[in-house]
Amino acid sequence: MTAELQPVDGAAGRSIIRKNVALLPVAPNLLDYPATCAAFKWDEAARLLDGLPDGQGLNMGYEAVDRHLRHGRADKVALRWIGKAGARQELSFGQLAQQTNRFANALAALGVQPGERVFVMMGRVPQLYIAVLGALKARCVVTPLFSQFGPEPIATRVEAADARVLVTSPELYQRKVKALRERLPGLRHVILAGAGGAGGAVGDDWAGTCRWDEVVATAAPDYAIGPTDPESTALLHFTSGTTGRPKAAVHVHQAVLSHLVTGIYALDLHDDDVFWCTADPGWVTGTSYGILAPLCNGVTSVVVEAEFDAQAWYSVLQRERVTVWYTAPTAIRMMMKLGAQALQGYDLSALRFAASVGEPLNPEAVLWGLDAFGLPFHDNWWQTETGGIMIANFAALDIRPGSMGRPLPGITAAVVRRTEGGGVEPVDEPMVQGELALKTPWPSLMRGYLHEEERYRKCFAGEWYLTGDLARRDADGYYWFVGRADDVIKSAGHLIGPFEVESALMEHPAVAEAGVIGMPDPIVGEVVKAFVALRTGVAPDEALRRELLGHARKRLGAAVAPKEIEFRANLPKTRSGKIMRRLLKARELGLPEGDLSTLESDEQP
Ligand code: ATP
Ligand code: MG
Repeated sequence: MTAELQPVDGAAGRSIIRKNVALLPVAPNLLDYPATCAAFKWDEAARLLDGLPDGQGLNMGYEAVDRHLRHGRADKVALRWIGKAGARQELSFGQLAQQTNRFANALAALGVQPGERVFVMMGRVPQLYIAVLGALKARCVVTPLFSQFGPEPIATRVEAADARVLVTSPELYQRKVKALRERLPGLRHVILAGAGGAGGAVGDDWAGTCRWDEVVATAAPDYAIGPTDPESTALLHFTSGTTGRPKAAVHVHQAVLSHLVTGIYALDLHDDDVFWCTADPGWVTGTSYGILAPLCNGVTSVVVEAEFDAQAWYSVLQRERVTVWYTAPTAIRMMMKLGAQALQGYDLSALRFAASVGEPLNPEAVLWGLDAFGLPFHDNWWQTETGGIMIANFAALDIRPGSMGRPLPGITAAVVRRTEGGGVEPVDEPMVQGELALKTPWPSLMRGYLHEEERYRKCFAGEWYLTGDLARRDADGYYWFVGRADDVIKSAGHLIGPFEVESALMEHPAVAEAGVIGMPDPIVGEVVKAFVALRTGVAPDEALRRELLGHARKRLGAAVAPKEIEFRANLPKTRSGKIMRRLLKARELGLPEGDLSTLESDEQP
């Protein structure tokens, strides 16, 4: 642990990780946070982008790839792919430009028009990245789909978006899509990328099924991007479905400015960085930060095909000399479960910045990073709807473990309360709990929910975008996540955020993961129940249960602490790694389970 990153005691018993910025390894951004925020203007930041030649507009694919050729990066590695079986492939910005041009030409040859939807459903292989960026250059609307979706979630999404093209692997096609073709007449073309599949086009009679090698690899490597309105739709992203039926958020080409700027400020990306985002592009983090933000910034990205495996991940960090790492609480908690000793022998000296998103990051996990990696995890907050990071613990600012951080330059956040007139107003006093809201607009704010005008409208009140999350802001402007508005527990007049209770449980060395819900109670309204998964090697028993109940009571007080604890081998999670509290609750109360299209199995191993 480096001396300048020692946690010290802050207000209200919370620790602060103070940073001596003079000692940080790389000149960090936001050395003067208030001044940077005050001076920031989106239209001035837009100068960091090139725009299409001859004033033809702004295209996300162009900004991510082609423009770097004009800035001397043609030979610089854009993507460094590490395949499952040890295969490696590097694509320079120049090669990526050519490959994406081939893909755009292939779409044109198939008669696919700008504005039509191109779905991409594959593991993390180079063709996925080429297809996404090539389709953006062709001005099609791109939807990445998580490759582990079953046939039904695929069919409903393809239908909802009226997808015209699907790029997938022969194996996924055979297993999940082929039987759906009859039901999806609008899906005219399926492009099969990669080896596999029996004979021809996997024995398929559908006229619209073709092979990548035949239509993309053989297409011309030059392509002129057509005029692109910055307000035209670029991406359609389905939310994680943590709180209910997933929504499809509409994002426009202009969102690329948010990707660029947030990459600089929240992830501290510099030209010589090697960046690794562990998220799958099937979720918005894997697209905004696994593809767009690093590429826009001209940074080399590592792409790892394999799913989570702690040892394999440590090897990647070591071997690829990753400098900036963006991951998620679930992965961090799994690493914690294995303990810091699993890291012994790895040389991670290149790593200088680590960030986390997707769920609240327990203070324990931030501090564990310091212990295990010698640098803390920097939590940041955003949503599919916001398109990019909104609130972050920045490289150059002190970290408050357990806090999401402070708003990015160009972003005005507030905790708001409802007014009698049906609007909202910001709450000025610190530490008051209320809904987290963001002042509109910013480039990557969603422009709609597909086919759900009413649901979209409800997200706004006057000039505010309402996030549906509850938070508090402290006197120094740091935001603290309380819970989803839907998950908050009302007990004897208290509003209890599940995160606070889960974090208190996580402080106990036996606990790997906790999910907390409210159970109806005739006297106090709701009581807190916790589901707890234990660290590897810890056996659940009555004594431990009592110890955890006592620990929580001591930390939180009797009114907030759980009344009941149930041990589980695993907690139900979305495929993007979020604890599905609504499902824990529905099962507990015997209620309908709701939309489970994004559920990852939580069966006991
Ligand atoms: P759905 O909207 O379909 O219910 P979802 O909200 O989980 O799913 P995403 O857009 O992937 O879908 O996730 C955004 C949400 O994740 C945020 O609204 C917030 O609740 C949670 N979240 C993300 N990052 C953080 C963080 N750093 N701290 C706390 N919560 C976070
Ligand atoms: Mg949401």
